[in-house]
Amino acid sequence: MNHDTAISSAREIADRVLAPAARQNDKEGRFSSEAVAALGRDGLLGLMLPAAVGGSALGPRTFAAVVATLAEADSSVAMVYLMHASAAATIAAARPGATVAPTLEAISAGRHLSTLAFSEAGSRSHFWAPVSRARRNAAGVHLTAKKSWVTSAGHAQSYVVSSLAPEGAGPTDSTLYLVPLGVRGLSVAGPWDGLGMRANASAPMTLVDCEVAPDHQLTEDGAGFQAMLQVVLPLFNLGTSAVALGICRAAVAATVTHLKTARFEHLGQSLGEGLPTLRAQLATMQIETDGLAARVDDFVDHLERPRDTTMLRVLESKAAAGDIAIGVTSTAMRVCGGAAFSKHLNVERLFRDAHAGAVMAPTGDVLREFIAKAVLGIPLF
Ligand SMILES: Cc1cc2nc3c(=O)[nH]c(=O)nc-3n(C[C@H](O)[C@H](O)[C@H](O)COP(=O)(O)OP(=O)(O)OC[C@H]3O[C@@H](n4cnc5c(N)ncnc54)[C@H](O)[C@@H]3O)c2cc1C
Repeated sequence: MNHDTAISSAREIADRVLAPAARQNDKEGRFSSEAVAALGRDGLLGLMLPAAVGGSALGPRTFAAVVATLAEADSSVAMVYLMHASAAATIAAARPGATVAPTLEAISAGRHLSTLAFSEAGSRSHFWAPVSRARRNAAGVHLTAKKSWVTSAGHAQSYVVSSLAPEGAGPTDSTLYLVPLGVRGLSVAGPWDGLGMRANASAPMTLVDCEVAPDHQLTEDGAGFQAMLQVVLPLFNLGTSAVALGICRAAVAATVTHLKTARFEHLGQSLGEGLPTLRAQLATMQIETDGLAARVDDFVDHLERPRDTTMLRVLESKAAAGDIAIGVTSTAMRVCGGAAFSKHLNVERLFRDAHAGAVMAPTGDVLREFIAKAVLGIPLF
């Protein structure tokens, strides 16, 4: 697989599997196992994994394009995919001594979906500070934790779980573990009935005395925080920005169709022909969407050629993307009027889905805190 064939596959799956089912899955809050199976069959689950474990070894540019393409059709699925990719990268970056090759090979073969279980009820959006603490005995560690939201909960075959290291002294001295579905003590703790992203099963999960063998410890004791910052954050923020871009593109496309097809029969004009105010708002949506595309490109460039400003781009892009997606879809709601409000169009689903990015950690507010502290030279933590 190369960059172009990966995007064609994503486009084909988006058109054939995602788009026809998105409305109903959203309505029912139904997780799309068909979408995950299709992504697996086409090799997209192992997109960025090394060739040595059967992956396609592609980079952030392809990842962002694939995520945006999926999000245009169904942002719930795009989010499932980006959480998986973030977890897969974390597993691939595991410490020497961890047994991860079978999991990575299963991912590359399209048989294994993974995800991140970081956020805890006790520390809320401050995912870098889990309040749960691993307990060590001769067999490994035991994990007990309340994970407040886990995308693909109960559907993913494995979970990258954070917990304070057994002897960790500070609030960020966490360790990451690989916990397979089916391990005793791991369960989905409630339903997922979100405002948006309704088809991605972002339910709470609990771990009660889950045993994790030493070879499933992904980071050294206390090194979870570094992995979160260096491996997860760039990819997660890029993926979330790309989801926002896909949502914006879909909102522009839906608005264009509506302005061309909805008519004032008594005036003999489509809405788009008749009303300059709607054209002006559509233009604003287009400007914002193209601006976000340029931002995502620039973010990718900073990951491909790391430099002093890379961390700033990592933080800025997600903060900006969340606001842009909310702005563009809000405008779409107004331009498409009662038709959007009454759910005749996909615009209201896009509007609801668009609100997830800003509240997913690191939230837009937290990112602003980090950005300003970075600019002022104040330590972030
Ligand atoms: C659809 C969806 C999917 C998710 N999937 C996952 C997942 O797969 N894995 C996972 O680990 N988590 C996941 N999460 C959880 C997510 O990452 C956040 O942890 C969660 O949304 C935080 O919500 P809260 O109510 O606990 O926020 P709170 O921490 O209570 O925040 C409330 C408000 O305070 C603001 N705030 C908090 N701290 C600061 C600060 N220091 N400075 C300024 N403002 C601040 C926030 O921006 C927010 O507006 C998901 C969430 C959603 C909505």
